[in-house]
Amino acid sequence: MRAYIPSYQLVTPRSLDEALNLLAQHNGDWKPFAGGTDLMVLLEAGKLPHQNYLSIWNLKELRGIEIGEARITLGALTTYTEVQANPVLRAEFPMLCQAAKETGGIAIQNRGTLGGNIVNGSPAADSPPALLAYDAELELISKSGSRNVPYAKFHRGYKQMDLRKEELLFRIHLPRPRGQRFHYYRKVGTRKAQAISKVCFAGLAEVDQNTVTDVRIALGSVAPIPIRCERTEAALRNQPLTAEVIKSAAATLAAEIAPIDDIRSTRDYRLRVSLNLLQDFLSQAIG
Ligand SMILES: Cc1cc2nc3c(=O)[nH]c(=O)nc-3n(C[C@H](O)[C@H](O)[C@H](O)COP(=O)(O)OP(=O)(O)OC[C@H]3O[C@@H](n4cnc5c(N)ncnc54)[C@H](O)[C@@H]3O)c2cc1C
Repeated sequence: MRAYIPSYQLVTPRSLDEALNLLAQHNGDWKPFAGGTDLMVLLEAGKLPHQNYLSIWNLKELRGIEIGEARITLGALTTYTEVQANPVLRAEFPMLCQAAKETGGIAIQNRGTLGGNIVNGSPAADSPPALLAYDAELELISKSGSRNVPYAKFHRGYKQMDLRKEELLFRIHLPRPRGQRFHYYRKVGTRKAQAISKVCFAGLAEVDQNTVTDVRIALGSVAPIPIRCERTEAALRNQPLTAEVIKSAAATLAAEIAPIDDIRSTRDYRLRVSLNLLQDFLSQAIG
């Protein structure tokens, strides 16, 4: 059932300061409204929990992609269209661009933001595995200042995250690569477009001949939060990629993820696909 619209308020702060003041004064009464592509679905379904929203869409401080020497900084309001259009992101962070390309359709890509995708906290979201594999860091801001949190530590449980009521997600930092890396991103859904992931896999590897010298693996839709699989990475790091090593890494991955049965898929299917994707990632990484 649709929500009763007059019971909601949406205000538009004129500056970041004004937005942060509002968040600080009302102890969680006001929630940010970015592109609204997650929030409007809840509104239409009559399931939008909070009544008071502040539109952050016009806050220019939360926009833009800055290319620094050591890192790239994306404003929380960066849209999927902007991600895909950026040549440096395309060259150095192709998995993030791939995730953006496979998120919703063009309207969603024009309006949906990376910040909204992160804070919405869905374990099935498509950009988090890429951000985890790229070691992203989040910058959170409130009236009392800003603080940085490694993205791998941000999600704490289903829809639980290290974000205080008075804070906004401000920026996302991506450390720039030093050498060549192999990037592998796969979103597995019911169909090619406009589907929510059954499994999402992001793998990043540095390979010297047959040995993986460094590796990062992150998955979505296989646990209550998007997860970085550090134990699986440890089972592979500095190992020659023999059949035995790959088998042992697959066993570690199976123990590290916790897929469930739900309306989109089954535990068994998700597990099988995750292990197949690991195998495919490693085979392609060594060429
Ligand atoms: C048809 C359709 C298809 C979709 N397809 C996909 C898909 O394929 N893959 C996918 O991952 N998602 C998909 N989505 C979900 C959605 O589009 C994304 O999660 C999008 O990135 C949300 O961004 P937004 O700016 O619209 O967030 P909003 O809806 O504005 O906000 C989402 C949540 O984040 C909070 N928030 C937003 N910005 C900030 C901030 N800067 N600081 C603090 N809190 C903030 C809001 O308070 C809210 O709780 C789809 C949605 C629709 C309707």
